[in-house]
Amino acid sequence: MSAGDLNIVHASALVQVHDSGTARRGATQGELDIITDGAIAIRGGIIVAVGDTHSVLSEHFDHDVPMINARGRTVLPGLVECHSHPIFDGERHDEYAERLGGASLAEVAAKGGGIWRSVVATRAADDTTLLARLTAAYARVLAGGVTTLEVKSGYGLTVAEELRALRLLDASRASTPIQLAVTFLGAHVVPRFSEVVGDLGDDVVQRGVDYTHLIDTEMLPAVVAQGLAEFQDVTVEDGFFTPAQALQLIRRSHQLGLPVRVHADAWKPSEGWRTAVQGGAISAEHLTYTPDAEILDVGAADTVAVLLPIAELIYMTDRRANARLFIDQQVPVAIATDYCSSIHATSLLNTLATAAPWFRMTPGEVIVGATLNAAYSLGRQATCGSLDVGKRGDVIVVDCPHPEEICLAVGAPVLDHVVIAGTLHS
Ligand SMILES: [Zn+2]
Repeated sequence: MSAGDLNIVHASALVQVHDSGTARRGATQGELDIITDGAIAIRGGIIVAVGDTHSVLSEHFDHDVPMINARGRTVLPGLVECHSHPIFDGERHDEYAERLGGASLAEVAAKGGGIWRSVVATRAADDTTLLARLTAAYARVLAGGVTTLEVKSGYGLTVAEELRALRLLDASRASTPIQLAVTFLGAHVVPRFSEVVGDLGDDVVQRGVDYTHLIDTEMLPAVVAQGLAEFQDVTVEDGFFTPAQALQLIRRSHQLGLPVRVHADAWKPSEGWRTAVQGGAISAEHLTYTPDAEILDVGAADTVAVLLPIAELIYMTDRRANARLFIDQQVPVAIATDYCSSIHATSLLNTLATAAPWFRMTPGEVIVGATLNAAYSLGRQATCGSLDVGKRGDVIVVDCPHPEEICLAVGAPVLDHVVIAGTLHS
């Protein structure tokens, strides 16, 4: 036996989510390609066979290769989490308690709450503290079935602090078997102060202009020069960054060879979806307040709509992202946790189960949203997101006889095994 060799056999349902070369949209969003009495063979960390148990074992049975009997269970691709902000320090549970007690967002912000509070705490935290928090978070994320994880910076907001966050995210690969995709999120919020231009002043509009200029001319070029990120993420939101400022940063990012993700319409209709598609972003995330008229007007798109049910639940939004309309318009939809300083959900398995009734998506649609479509949103489809020969052997085994049952098991401890590159991690 060598490292990364594994056979998984006799799955009641092996959910292949076969990758036919494109993200799934429209009627195909919910297709799971289930193989009954399914099996998978992994050698040297790579999937070498997928099919019914009899045919896989006839070619790949080997006494020396470990075997998992998945009888009565569902085998799925390792889940792909495509929206998280794990590098932060400080606590914000008191803000949530205040909001649950009736306080508005503005009232919480007036008392010093919000993202800015995490920026202050994160800047003050030393590297060891931040790395320890990352390690602890990754263990929880893994326990939610995730084998590939996108991780954003964005609680630094100066050149030096954003670079430090990205370096720590890169270093944190040593503390987890999860495959990480690192995203630079300098344009998270507009800070009050900048190390370069000092106090950015009381003029909110001018502050946005000055900070966008700083990202454009210093922060982003430094990130690219140091090779620290796979993506830039830009917030398009009324009161944060305008569509014009976002498009400026998106264009610069593409000039520098860095694909773009967009935080869009989380709090208000802000033309975020239209801007993301217009700019050629690989994904647009949140989309809670994107108006139906804008979704209809933009129509079909390759930009993946990443929807975040737990964020809407915890933020108590009075609208939900219109998943059905995105699917009707032939937009690929993905589901993610939005783990961050104000949302401590780490289980993508529970999040996809929540997403089904929250967005009125079928079990098939949410599972595709947390596997293949999420992989496409990360440009990682060559290595993960489906159980296809040639991809990395990232697999989860769930104690449910059929994948639809996962949506009935919210919060239940149904995850039996997490396999990354053919190696068992739980
Ligand atoms: Zn976010």
